[in-house]
Amino acid sequence: MTTHKLSHSNGTNPSHSTTLFWFRHDLRLRDQLSLTAAIRHAKKQGNRFLMLYFFEPRWRKTDPFGNERIGVYRAQFILETLQELKLEVEDLGGELLVLDADPLSELPRLAEELGGDFVFASRHVADEETKQEQALARRLDTYNCKLALVWNHTLYQEQDLPFALGDLPDIYTQFRKQVERSARVGKLLDKPSQIPEPPQEIYNSSWGCQLAELQGEWQDQLESYGKRDPRATILHKGGAKAGEARLAFYFWENNLIESYKDTRNGLIGPRYSTQFSPWLAIGALSPRWIWHETLRYEDTIKANSSTYWVRFELLWREYFQWVAYAYGSALFKPYGLTAELQRQAPKLGRASVKHFQRWTRGETGNDFVDANMKELNLTGFMSNRGRQNVASYLVHDLGVDWRRGAGYFESKLIDYDPASNWGNWAYIAGVGNDPRPQRKFNTRGQAERYDSKGEYRALWLN
Ligand SMILES: Cc1cc2nc3c(=O)[nH]c(=O)nc-3n(C[C@H](O)[C@H](O)[C@H](O)COP(=O)(O)OP(=O)(O)OC[C@H]3O[C@@H](n4cnc5c(N)ncnc54)[C@H](O)[C@@H]3O)c2cc1C
Repeated sequence: MTTHKLSHSNGTNPSHSTTLFWFRHDLRLRDQLSLTAAIRHAKKQGNRFLMLYFFEPRWRKTDPFGNERIGVYRAQFILETLQELKLEVEDLGGELLVLDADPLSELPRLAEELGGDFVFASRHVADEETKQEQALARRLDTYNCKLALVWNHTLYQEQDLPFALGDLPDIYTQFRKQVERSARVGKLLDKPSQIPEPPQEIYNSSWGCQLAELQGEWQDQLESYGKRDPRATILHKGGAKAGEARLAFYFWENNLIESYKDTRNGLIGPRYSTQFSPWLAIGALSPRWIWHETLRYEDTIKANSSTYWVRFELLWREYFQWVAYAYGSALFKPYGLTAELQRQAPKLGRASVKHFQRWTRGETGNDFVDANMKELNLTGFMSNRGRQNVASYLVHDLGVDWRRGAGYFESKLIDYDPASNWGNWAYIAGVGNDPRPQRKFNTRGQAERYDSKGEYRALWLN
């Protein structure tokens, strides 16, 4: 990692004169609540403005089960998004530095060197990231710099929820009914028309953008792992533009939203479900924007149960965000959210490394599971139907600790989102919200029902 040091010509720290913006899972300019707040603040103070993204060292580690934390397809997707975002930022007069470094050490250093008054960022909900925020706030405080966290990954702000977080319903349906009745998704924000200038010191220092190095490194990894398989549902491309084009394809150009409820359990091709999840996970698309686009579609073209169902699914996503935030570290523990029910909770199977490895390679002998795992490995994506089945199979048929599977998904999924991933895994393992001892899928029956002609299995196993 390059060491970054700034030297000030007069040898003194500038007093508060820079506002820092830390991009995290909010890689967009449209409907960007944190960025809008940050720019407003910088302009009011007459501050210079620097935007940063950190490719974090913790992502390069393995989890306690040996799973890599970030796989090549997601890394590529993020880097493509950053490439586009950087150009957009520069067009508006700003500067985005992508650093291969730890924000916990680098943001305080930048704050010190540049006289940072505030670091603005979008709030995360998962345990590791919220702890990172707390540690960062403490370190920044040493330099008299504040961390301003904004809700930006969710449909609602915490204060808009019709219940206190401690009273978050245990069951999705109760959550959905309450928010549908009493909460409103806020108005959309425009893209900024201009971004304040960066501090000039960054151009005379060794703080250099490391995007090109990262792209080179991950390109090499891609060469050795293999490019995304063309059998993929779609070849998701990073960046807000591709995400917006995907919405145009699904809603406005092909009206697929009108039949979504009937097709959403499909397995093959670009039409059965929206495929918005990779862009949502890194924030290249705003969930509020998608929400409002469904309403606009209903106002201008047609409203039916399918158009509503996209919002219904966005509310599942929303629910898992608040579950993760409310339960903190419990979501990542063996018994998940059911600590007080431990006696009734299902016995955790012995983590059989052999079973697990066969599952990861798509070599269990269950053709439906194997086809789905091949798709995941070769594309970074799997349908919701597939995810439910392979997760259930690992936990309930093979008796493997659900966290191994969740960690494997974390590494492979292009749309990995901590709350959605760990929340869904815990749910299927029977230790999440609405806990039930046996949330088991009959994978043979599911294959018969959703792949009756065996086309999906043939696609991936031949
Ligand atoms: C074991 C398991 C792990 C999962 N891991 C992730 C993950 O890491 N990241 C992720 O985004 N989704 C995850 N999901 C949820 C879901 O499978 C994907 O969001 C969905 O398949 C993405 O495809 P799509 O965008 O075409 O979804 P669509 O069917 O078109 O749905 C529209 C949007 O609604 C949201 N959504 C739909 N279903 C769910 C759900 N069950 N939970 C949360 N949000 C949902 C997503 O944001 C999705 O993009 C997981 C599900 C399971 C069963």
